[in-house]
Amino acid sequence: MKILVVEDDIRLGEQIISALEGNDWVPELSQDGVDALYRATSEEWDVIVLDLGLPKLDGLTVLKSLRDENINTPVVILSARDNLTQRVEGLNAGADDYLTKPFETMELIARIRAQLRRASGNASPIMQVGSLSLDTRSSKVMWQGQAISLTALEYKVVAYFMHNPEKVISRTELVEHIYKQDFDRDSNTIEVFIGRIRKKIAPDVLKTVRGLGYRLHAE
Ligand code: CA
Repeated sequence: MKILVVEDDIRLGEQIISALEGNDWVPELSQDGVDALYRATSEEWDVIVLDLGLPKLDGLTVLKSLRDENINTPVVILSARDNLTQRVEGLNAGADDYLTKPFETMELIARIRAQLRRASGNASPIMQVGSLSLDTRSSKVMWQGQAISLTALEYKVVAYFMHNPEKVISRTELVEHIYKQDFDRDSNTIEVFIGRIRKKIAPDVLKTVRGLGYRLHAE
């Protein structure tokens, strides 16, 4: 899952990035409001973590602009503890959740996870699509009640499909959501992952949609 972290405090930003990476997500850091707005509108993200006090353009304006442009990506705002007005304004402007500073990264991860679940229509931490289930807390995948052992990258692929169960997903989209930007990204390797996942789970669990990509098939 691809997460945009907008935070101008570089130390905090890097701390968040490494915590999210440790959770098998693909986070990227943006350090000012102008850059954040550009990246949030030009690329697709699964969640945006948005600090409100930002240079160049404040977080609230970034958020309002996103919602004005009908970009509905879940947004978790970060705000100062003593600024209730700011938080209320943030929620009114279309934020989905908030955290006050200072916070534990564990809590941020739990809140992001909840947003990812909700965005895919799941209220429970265990996502279920047909015979396939995924426990988002422990990163465990089960097929017809049997635990499936996946590598970190295979897990990222399966999790992305589980969060987008109805969608046909192209190789390019998968690459963007499972690899870091500076990684040597080759969309041909996606085919290899798909092949391995089919072998481990079921031959037709990821159906090829000719010319377009793949779709989850987990009956
Ligand atoms: Ca700030």
